[in-house]
Amino acid sequence: MTLTDLTLAAARDGLRAKQFTAEELTRTHLEAIEALNPRLNAYVTVSHARAMDQARAADAALARGEVRALTGIPLAIKDLFCTEGVRTTAGSRILGPFVPPYESTVTANLLRDGAIFLGKANMDEFAMGSSNMTSAWGAVENPWKRRQDSNAVLVPGGSSGGSASAVAARLALGATGTDTGGSIRQPASFCGIAGIKPTYGRCSRWGVVAFASSLDHPGPFARTVEDCAILLGSMAGHDPKDSTSADRPVPDFAAACGRSVKGMRIGVPREYRMDGMPEEIEALWQQGLAWLRDAGAEIVDVSLPHTKYGLATYYIIAPAEASSNLARYDGVRFGLREDGADLRDLYERTRAAGFGAEVRRRIMIGTYVLSAGYYDAYYLRAQKLRALVLRDFTEAFTKVDAMLTPTAPSAAFAQGDNMDDPIKMYLNDVFTVPLNLAGVPGMSVPAGLDANGLPLGLQVIGKPFDEETVFAVAAAVERAAKFDALPALRAGA
Ligand code: GLN
Repeated sequence: MTLTDLTLAAARDGLRAKQFTAEELTRTHLEAIEALNPRLNAYVTVSHARAMDQARAADAALARGEVRALTGIPLAIKDLFCTEGVRTTAGSRILGPFVPPYESTVTANLLRDGAIFLGKANMDEFAMGSSNMTSAWGAVENPWKRRQDSNAVLVPGGSSGGSASAVAARLALGATGTDTGGSIRQPASFCGIAGIKPTYGRCSRWGVVAFASSLDHPGPFARTVEDCAILLGSMAGHDPKDSTSADRPVPDFAAACGRSVKGMRIGVPREYRMDGMPEEIEALWQQGLAWLRDAGAEIVDVSLPHTKYGLATYYIIAPAEASSNLARYDGVRFGLREDGADLRDLYERTRAAGFGAEVRRRIMIGTYVLSAGYYDAYYLRAQKLRALVLRDFTEAFTKVDAMLTPTAPSAAFAQGDNMDDPIKMYLNDVFTVPLNLAGVPGMSVPAGLDANGLPLGLQVIGKPFDEETVFAVAAAVERAAKFDALPALRAGA
């Protein structure tokens, strides 16, 4: 076993027991990145020298006995998090040359706890996408291969596809992601790893490039549920710089992974049984429920009646907020500038050169639904539906402690699939977006393989600020699933 195969928890313990050094651990990861990243394109920036400096500092801290939660742990950081002195692009040409003069709160929390940043992970442009095909820096490859048709290049999911691909291929022990409509959970499912979108407000959005502010949730990826719990414990916490940050204590998430699910009530939302969903996903869902029943939980049918409006609601609110947030990229203050005859010409040239097709589509949809004549017909109605989606969850959670659903309606698809039809691409998010609209936590845990040997995830949904129950249920699924399949492309393979 090489160092890159360790779980985050095992690496932490090995560092503390002086079985290896942070320098060795970091160098092994950097070598793996050098070997595999030209193929996977999971990192857009590799911070070789900086990471080695951080590793030496971690070893010095360990030698002094100054041990923090993540001392010496190498991570990948989604390129949506501003990192002081390290280029941050949000997957866009428009931010291409931008080097932030400050550190996002979430990454500052990770650094405070001793983490090492290997580099910045590729992503869909401004986190808009489900395939990582919209990055200005090229597509990311999923390290998994179909048993049949093993030449097909699969997508890692999106928008945090670089983070998910890096963690699955053992190019990092964990990673940060953001989830606006599913961008942590869907790529986790596609890449056979774990990922949690916590409650809205649990992790600060300060210093995270904004997509849709009321829907954006930072959260972690890792290869185990416990590793995600350790990372979230460091990332979370109240931040006075984000007015939507929750002033609540951060519980011991890792301890919650060991809690029994005996006596818990697990809901099965009947509206998630979708026409046309592959049978193996339905079968895996039933298997997951059986595992939880065997572990002593009670399975309860629940209803989330407004689920069918979730996608339409999301694809009005998210573009509306995006069109407003992205107005700041005008070529004047930061990032790319294309000179023009006058100010207006400069704006138009900069934005035309800087934004890709999907981002332009969202800006157009967003400005349309917010425009004077259409605001009431689209945006206002979407806001009303959002309230109903939240009410569905609130009512269902009077009957159950958590819910179990599939994470996504398919396994990873091939690069180029679903590209001709944006609506088909948007359907990827059918099981994930309602949670963003409601702000409730959700976690994807790898649970099985499809007939072609590709990973499938199950989603655990929890009550607001009850990530502990989410971790307990996800860990129970993980223990029963014994998911130990490996991606074809990985360090040391
Ligand atoms: N796939 C969704 C979208 O394109 C969600 C993306 C995300 O969660 N950032 O908007």
